[in-house]
Parts: sequence; C-alpha cells; structure tokens
Amino acid sequence: RFITFEGGEGVGKSTNIQALAEYLRSIGKTVIVTREPGGTPIAEKIRNDLLKAHHEEPMAPMAELLLMFAARAQHVDAVIRPALERGDWVLCDRFTDSTIAYQGYGRGLSLSTIEQLKTMAQGDFSPDHTILLDAPASVGMTRARARGEELNEETDRFETEEMAFFERAREGFLALARSESRFHIVDASQSLDDVTKQVLALFEIEGNI
Ligand code: C5P
Repeated sequence: RFITFEGGEGVGKSTNIQALAEYLRSIGKTVIVTREPGGTPIAEKIRNDLLKAHHEEPMAPMAELLLMFAARAQHVDAVIRPALERGDWVLCDRFTDSTIAYQGYGRGLSLSTIEQLKTMAQGDFSPDHTILLDAPASVGMTRARARGEELNEETDRFETEEMAFFERAREGFLALARSESRFHIVDASQSLDDVTKQVLALFEIEGNI
C-alpha cells in the first residue's frame, strides 16, 4: 500500500506518519517512511537546492516545478516502486498533491502543465490513500515557529513567502480532496493527540482503509 500525507507547514505530518508507521509495524507490516522532495540521495540533493538556493538567487517557478518532478521521478524509481513490489507499505510525507497545491495553486503555474509533467514523470502511478491534515496556514505557522524547527526549513519558509501563498496552497489541497476519493481529510487544528487518534482510526477500523 502506498499512503501519502499532505497538508501545509506545521500541521503534524511527520509526527503522524511516525505514529502510523509504529502502529502498522505493531500489527506485523513492513513499513518504509519517506518524504518529498527527497527520499533518496539524489532527490535529497535536489531538496537541498530547492530549499536553500533562493538565498543566492530567486528560483524561477518553472525551475522549481521541474526540480520537484525530477526528484519525484528518482524517488519513485529508486525507492517507492521497488518497496511496493516487495509488498511493503510506503508512507510518504508529501507527494504530487503538494506540487499541485504549492506550485499550482500557490505559485499560479498552470494546472494543465503540471498534469502533463505528472503524466511524463510518473504515468498513472498514484497513492492508494492520501491523508490530508488540514488547518489554516496561521495555525501551522504558530506551531512551526514554536517548535523552532531544527533544520530551520519551515520557519525560513514563513519568512520568504506571503501568508496568502500558504492559504492558496491550502485551498488547492481541499479542492483536490473534494475531487478524488483516495483522500481522507483530518482536521489538524485539533490537539496533536486528537489528530493522531483520527489518523490511526482510519487504519484500525476495518473497512475504513
Ligand atoms: O513538508 P516539508 O516541510 O518537509 O517540506 C519542505 C518545504 O518544501 C516546505 O516548506 C514546503 O512548503 C516546501 N514545498 C514546496 N512545494 C512542494 C513541496 C514542498 O514548496 N511541492
């Protein structure tokens, strides 16, 4: 099974992925936890450029978009597809929906261009289920700032992007969730414990997922 977690900054994606991985392992599944952009040495190098290069020079939105798909093509080929073929569960922190939400709705790049690139880079490869952790951008920002973010990636983001950018991305995620049945929306403005309970319930209750 290929499960992706989506949502804005500071909504608790990584914590909830770890909790789900722990639960799935406790019932005997082999689980791989990975993330985008990144997840392989080559894709992590691209991630580093995506997150840091703007200190040297503004990144053109199309360059950003193409790098996202370059990283994803490597990640799918080297990590995700082989794991699924072995029968492992793959839990991924962000995937193509983030590209549609951030580069499409956020940056304003054409959704049909993104669709075309998606077809080129991944064909019809798509997650079985997607958990959308949804919260207003301001909630995520407060949490990301409170946490201090070891890598400074998230706090850095809030300094380089307008709040409206994150709000547009949120609308993008919600629009995707309304149009595709693989989505499960969880209200991430609740306490982290409650969010985790809801995420786990999706998997614990037979027939949910
Ligand atoms: O999910 P995570 O916080 O690790 O993502 C790292 C950063 O990359 C985030 O700040 C996110 O806004 C950004 N990102 C992006 N476009 C994507 C995926 C991630 O701008 N398609």
